[in-house]
Amino acid sequence: VIELRTDWLTGRTVLFAAHRADRPNEFAAQVGTEAAVASRPCPFCPGHESSTPPAVYTQADVAGYWRVRVVPNKFPAVSIEEPIVTGAHEVVIESARHVDRMAALSVAELAEVLSAYRARLVHWRESGRFEYGLVFKNLGAAAGASLAHVHSQLIALPEVPGPVAAEFARARQSLEEKGKCAYCQLVAQEREAKERVVLDRDGFIAFCPYASLQPCEVWIMPTTHEAWFEARRLEGGDPLAEILRTILTHIEGVLPRVAYNVLVRTSPWQVDAAEAGHWRIEILPRVNALAGFELATQTYINPIDPIRAAQQLLIAARETNR
Ligand SMILES: [Zn+2]
Ligand SMILES: [Zn+2]
Repeated sequence: VIELRTDWLTGRTVLFAAHRADRPNEFAAQVGTEAAVASRPCPFCPGHESSTPPAVYTQADVAGYWRVRVVPNKFPAVSIEEPIVTGAHEVVIESARHVDRMAALSVAELAEVLSAYRARLVHWRESGRFEYGLVFKNLGAAAGASLAHVHSQLIALPEVPGPVAAEFARARQSLEEKGKCAYCQLVAQEREAKERVVLDRDGFIAFCPYASLQPCEVWIMPTTHEAWFEARRLEGGDPLAEILRTILTHIEGVLPRVAYNVLVRTSPWQVDAAEAGHWRIEILPRVNALAGFELATQTYINPIDPIRAAQQLLIAARETNR
């Protein structure tokens, strides 16, 4: 069964060459051994703080030992040096422990990581110099990681990148035409259909998107309208860390030690994004390499239908709960 899907909102085009009987982990041969390059001594471990630029943000325990540390990127992809400001680029060192998997962090540790994301996005947003901020994680060499120690990156940019601006323009047009947030409508549709939903509780939904680029891709979205990740309402506790950890654990249940990217997609920082924008976290397992076809056509080939991927993730969930 071959089906071409284009998602009107994100503009993604995916060719589903679905071998429906296949489990996603039959492709795991391409992903299992991709441990990031071992680097000793590890520059992100305690005791090696001088091998990174000085921290711009830390969370420490009562004894003064840091647990989360944010530093400017030593090898920035963008530069904040005047006179030409092209962007800010930071590294979030997510734990003092030398672990490589994000799911190896406890819920409490992940909550501190999410706080660091929020604080640094707020910092750059309030600087007034940038229009857009992105937090992303590359885990495993296949996902672009060069260091194993659990970390993510933040980039703030003076202009909204083209594909993000195009998606936002479509969302704004949809809001004007229908009077409703396009993403809130998407949440309602996924809830109604149920078949791609992996989790729906505590104000969040996690589902495998209709035009999934990769097997077991999952989006986590707030089920009430929230434009900006960094402006999240946290009264009454924050269930997101536990939900994120749960989803990562399910993905690793289906695809052990898979390389993946996590993208925290907040809305553009312009004021009028409040109604049309809606943040999400994308978790993209890197099962299929970006090959010539993808690069030439910007069309992705995914062998697993997202309905089937959601079923596999739910089976993994039952196995962990047993
Ligand atoms: Zn380390
Ligand atoms: Zn919304």
